[in-house]
Amino acid sequence: MAGLVAEKKNVVVIGSGVAGSLVAKSLQNEAAVFLIDEKEYFEITWASLRSMVEPEFAKRSVISYSEYLPHAKIVTSTAVNITDTDVFTAQGSRIR
Ligand SMILES: Cc1cc2nc3c(=O)[nH]c(=O)nc-3n(C[C@H](O)[C@H](O)[C@H](O)COP(=O)(O)OP(=O)(O)OC[C@H]3O[C@@H](n4cnc5c(N)ncnc54)[C@H](O)[C@@H]3O)c2cc1C
Repeated sequence: MAGLVAEKKNVVVIGSGVAGSLVAKSLQNEAAVFLIDEKEYFEITWASLRSMVEPEFAKRSVISYSEYLPHAKIVTSTAVNITDTDVFTAQGSRIR
């Protein structure tokens, strides 16, 4: 009954801070999620001060996207333009 399977909508999330990461994680099984950020990892920002005085701790304050976003498409770039239908990145990608 393939004809009854609804096509997943594209959802573009800009920014992989705690807000964007939570949205992407929550929707990754319901939609085709694209997460755009120049950073290649999630950073626990509130741990950065401790990392400055305890560099070993910094390793524990970054998390790979693959650990929590196995079904999202990661776009490592900066979003530079947004229209009603598209997001354009500094790398030249266009996500619809
Ligand atoms: C040292 C420190 C201590 C803190 N302590 C606390 C605390 O104790 N309690 C508390 O509640 N809060 C604390 N905060 C604040 C908390 O970290 C922030 O409120 C929270 O991280 C905001 O999350 P966010 O996802 O909204 O934004 P951010 O974490 O700022 O994430 C935004 C993301 O968007 C990306 N981005 C921006 N523009 C673009 C673009 N054009 N294209 C693609 N990507 C883009 C950035 O690279 C970034 O990854 C602290 C912050 C710091 C720095």
